Amino acid sequence: MPPKTRKIAVMGFRAVGKSSLVIRFVEDQFVDSYHPSIENTFEKRVKYSGQDFLIQLVDTAGQDEYSLFSEAHCVDVHGYVLVYSINSQKSFEVIKVIHDKILDTMGVSSRSRVPLVLVGNKTDLHMQRVISTEEGKRLADSWNAIFVESSAKQNERVKDIFLMILMEVEKQYEGGGETKQDCSIL
Ligand code: GDP
Repeated sequence: MPPKTRKIAVMGFRAVGKSSLVIRFVEDQFVDSYHPSIENTFEKRVKYSGQDFLIQLVDTAGQDEYSLFSEAHCVDVHGYVLVYSINSQKSFEVIKVIHDKILDTMGVSSRSRVPLVLVGNKTDLHMQRVISTEEGKRLADSWNAIFVESSAKQNERVKDIFLMILMEVEKQYEGGGETKQDCSIL
């Protein structure tokens, strides 16, 4: 049986660690340098629930509150990993804007349950923490999303992020065949 492909978009303000999380998951490496990324797609095969999956991770270039949310960000996308860093208030504000833009761009019917994982990254920088765990959790709860705090640097809970989004996606499509959420035609 060929693996089932699941496409996940990783979004968030610049420098929150999107690429670092993806590279840690796919290659188990951490590179402590910052190269503002253009959009890149990475792939990793995983086994989940007795099935083979090919996870395609779209490492987006990063957004801010003024970015136009392109429909390209949700065509064929099964789920979203939304990342802020716990030492940046700005990244926490931006992630709320990105979340709202995702919902606005999706069809109304699929708004109720978009597979989402909210990630507070850089937990190793606890001395510089400005967003508490409770605040992150509260935001995720208000979205009906899963919440994870991670460190790409120390490899804390990175695997969990991507397995949880896969789990959320599979929950969404359970018994529902292969239909996925698409953007509304605006
Ligand atoms: P992106 O722009 O969101 O893709 O961010 P990058 O992955 O390029 O990371 C931005 C900067 O944060 C780089 O200098 C990374 O080394 C650093 N970084 C990423 N994740 C972590 C982390 O978990 N802890 C720490 N201390 N630094 C991190």
